[in-house]
Amino acid sequence: MGYIPSVNRYKTMPYKRCGKSGLLLPAISLGLWHNFGSVDDFENGRKIVQRAFDAGITHFDLANNYGPIAGSAETNFGKMLQLDFPGNLRDELVISSKAGYDMWPGPYGEWGSRKYLIASLDQSLKRMQLDYVDIFYSHRFDPNTPLEETMMALDTIVKQGKALYAGISSYSATDTKRAADILKQLGTPCLIHQPRYSMLDRWVEGGLMDVLEEYGIGCIAFSPLAQGMLTDKYLNGIPEKSRAANPNGYLQTSDITPEKVERLKQLNQIAKQRDQSLAQMALAWLLKDKRITSVLIGASSVEQLDNNLASLNNTSFTSEELKAIESILAE
Ligand code: NDP
Repeated sequence: MGYIPSVNRYKTMPYKRCGKSGLLLPAISLGLWHNFGSVDDFENGRKIVQRAFDAGITHFDLANNYGPIAGSAETNFGKMLQLDFPGNLRDELVISSKAGYDMWPGPYGEWGSRKYLIASLDQSLKRMQLDYVDIFYSHRFDPNTPLEETMMALDTIVKQGKALYAGISSYSATDTKRAADILKQLGTPCLIHQPRYSMLDRWVEGGLMDVLEEYGIGCIAFSPLAQGMLTDKYLNGIPEKSRAANPNGYLQTSDITPEKVERLKQLNQIAKQRDQSLAQMALAWLLKDKRITSVLIGASSVEQLDNNLASLNNTSFTSEELKAIESILAE
């Protein structure tokens, strides 16, 4: 028998308003950057997506280049949609894609031109067998294209109905302000910003979060587990089955420094005292901030996903815990 979504899928997941928009996103969203490409086990990915939806994860994040090979995560996700989410189930999903990084050869296959963004979304829609995505992002700021051109491309895409909302990813605080102002003038508000944010990478606290709050833009934090470092997996070496050991993984073994492991061990102690795994505490630590709409996790197994979902059982911290965490992170 095929997949039948759980009838309990909306019982536990909190949904948070994305900035000042009408769109609610699950507190935890699933990204398909790793583990869903043509080099990966399709059935494993399919089980993760099914389990996610059963737990109330309605938001799935993709990009043109996710794989490897680039594009194959969208192709695989399109197949999963056909197999498991027929008919009106599409209306229960918020699917995003992006363009910005290197996708095809020649001068029109990356960055932020109108030519690239519009062509890339058309390719993504074909791969996913969709008429529209819910959110389309400019994946990175392009210093050599007028920001007006990039934002006008997003506006066109939304007005054509190929995306319902526009977003930006990894733009600085200053560029975010400029982008949001242009989009507002065009009549397509900036729905969401997708920055990297975790206990180990806090650049957004240097101004971006304030801009997002001021402009009423939602924030979805990517790599909230620092690609797996903020879990218990690297505390005693680098396991064979891990992103750092995977030749297709973006995380490098050189990222797992002894200093970092020492800090992770200390954080793990605090997590234990809270009756949480380190991963659960790392997600809860982000979710305690009202300005975070969602944490955008990855998972290579259903077990990891389940472990991460349990972070929602405790997202509050005592001031002592927060102080102790701050002092470890400041080391
Ligand atoms: P995470 O920081 O959540 O890392 C996920 C990885 O950590 C998993 O694939 C797994 O790796 C490991 N992991 C997860 N949970 C556990 C657990 N409970 N115990 C042990 N290990 C665990 O996020 P990602 O770096 O995967 O990024 C998430 C999403 O963010 C992407 O899929 C993408 O959608 C988005 N993103 C956006 C970017 C942008 O530029 N806008 C850039 C990067 C990501 P393993 O088991 O293989 O070691």
